Amino acid sequence: MNRNCSVTISLLNKEGPIYLLEERIDDKFVKYTLNNSLSPVLHLTGRDLKITLFLCFSQHVQYLDTQENLFLSNFQGGRPLLTDPQVITTSKYSTKFTAGNISSILESFKQLHKCNHYCQWFSLTSYDDSTDVREMVPRSVESDMDLDTQLTST
Ligand SMILES: [Zn+2]
Repeated sequence: MNRNCSVTISLLNKEGPIYLLEERIDDKFVKYTLNNSLSPVLHLTGRDLKITLFLCFSQHVQYLDTQENLFLSNFQGGRPLLTDPQVITTSKYSTKFTAGNISSILESFKQLHKCNHYCQWFSLTSYDDSTDVREMVPRSVESDMDLDTQLTST
């Protein structure tokens, strides 16, 4: 069974509707991050929180790899599919990628991003030394991930 499907039918020089078809998500739909925040959605726990922390880490990687010009936000979906992310760019490109491109979030990345254990594990630049990465992971999740071992082995 082919579960990957995305079709866009665009007739830009003709009048009429434009259709966008996306893959059906059979799993529970989860909102991991918003496009106006760099923090995980507050109600998440367990595996969903682990996924969210990894996605926040991926934002940090994207921010660094694009020389602080871009990252993705608004992560959501159902396992194993993420859908409809938002590109966040500098104000130079604020009219691109729809109104959800909130440039002020990118401009405040160093103040708003809270590094977690993934950032530390990969030795990414930390912007806030006062944040204890253990605060970002509830105790039950921490034990699953063997966080103490990871943090002390570096
Ligand atoms: Zn980080």
